[in-house]
Amino acid sequence: MNAPTNTALPTLLLSAQDVATLVHRLGLPAVLDRMAGNIHADYLRWPAFDKSARVANHSADGVIELMPIADDTTYAFKYVNGHPKNTRQGLPTVMAFGVLADVATGVPVLLSELTLTTALRTAAMSVVAARALARPSSRRMALIGNGAQSEFQALAFHHLLGIHEIRLFDTDAAATRKLMANLAGETGLHLIACDSIAQAVRGADIVTTVTADKTNATILTPEMIEPGMHINGVGGDCPGKTELHPDVLRGASVFVEYEPQTRVEGDLQHLPADFVVTELWHVLAGDVAGRTSAAEVTLFDSVGFALEDYSALRFLREAAGELGLGQALPLIPALTDPKDLFGLLRKSAPPQLALAA
Ligand code: NAD
Repeated sequence: MNAPTNTALPTLLLSAQDVATLVHRLGLPAVLDRMAGNIHADYLRWPAFDKSARVANHSADGVIELMPIADDTTYAFKYVNGHPKNTRQGLPTVMAFGVLADVATGVPVLLSELTLTTALRTAAMSVVAARALARPSSRRMALIGNGAQSEFQALAFHHLLGIHEIRLFDTDAAATRKLMANLAGETGLHLIACDSIAQAVRGADIVTTVTADKTNATILTPEMIEPGMHINGVGGDCPGKTELHPDVLRGASVFVEYEPQTRVEGDLQHLPADFVVTELWHVLAGDVAGRTSAAEVTLFDSVGFALEDYSALRFLREAAGELGLGQALPLIPALTDPKDLFGLLRKSAPPQLALAA
């Protein structure tokens, strides 16, 4: 079979600027809403996916991870790092990119930035979990950790869940000031900077922890937890990098994305293997109850699962098509004779380096 001559197979490239333009043109609430919709819909197809825990390479100051997943038609992976000390040298803690590929042929159809997208999809995922687990009357949230992810969390909970008061705390007061300045124009959202975690958490319906430190931190301790709270634990996502006192988990009904991964990476790593947790997809599918009473404490031990990136990449591809964003990347050569890969070298070699016939 002959492919067209001298063309590359089309892989759509979406840069960070393309994704920023996409968000600007569609509006952040609409983007978060569509991502949450995709995530929810894909979680309902849970058995259709070939799933695995991500592959992590750890080093002294961080981790680099690969996150693959596939269904019958589409394969996705994300490359992502976590280096909490990066901000001291002007780099983000979390950076990412990812690929969507056609399962039938293996052709990569999309290569996209996922740094901005990870913040969007993590916030959308937090809302998908909170819709199923938090009290429907929730209006006040505490947001502990006011770094790169924080505005996305704040806006997702405000626009998609009706949170109108957010109480903020970060050990770095400049991070809280940055968040407040970034969201100063949001109507109907009341932001309060607090002096301590305990002050921020008091009276909250939902507590989101999204701190970064490569240590077993105890951002939340049992005496801070009030009946009926929903805890959205986002920052504890690596062996030796956690946010919650183990008794906070013991006092709650704990929900996870993909149990084999969360047992290793989540705050769950501190609890024995027989501590019972529920995979969230069961709740979304209606097989298992989420919250069973107004006084129950629910906890989403979020670590970030490949399915959410699959959902986000799927959304980016759709939305970029609607808006005509991105550019064709000549990544994979199209060959006149697919068995003649060497012919590509003969065609593209500069004259002085021409290969002997
Ligand atoms: P960031 O470095 O930009 O911000 C983290 C903030 O946490 C900083 O402002 C820091 O001062 C603050 N902090 C650290 N220790 C604290 C403490 N003890 N009390 C209060 N604040 C504290 O990082 P980011 O990109 O916002 O990511 C935050 C965390 O979320 C990281 O640990 C990252 O790995 C994790 N994350 C998880 C998911 C997921 O799907 N679960 C997705 C993305 C990021």
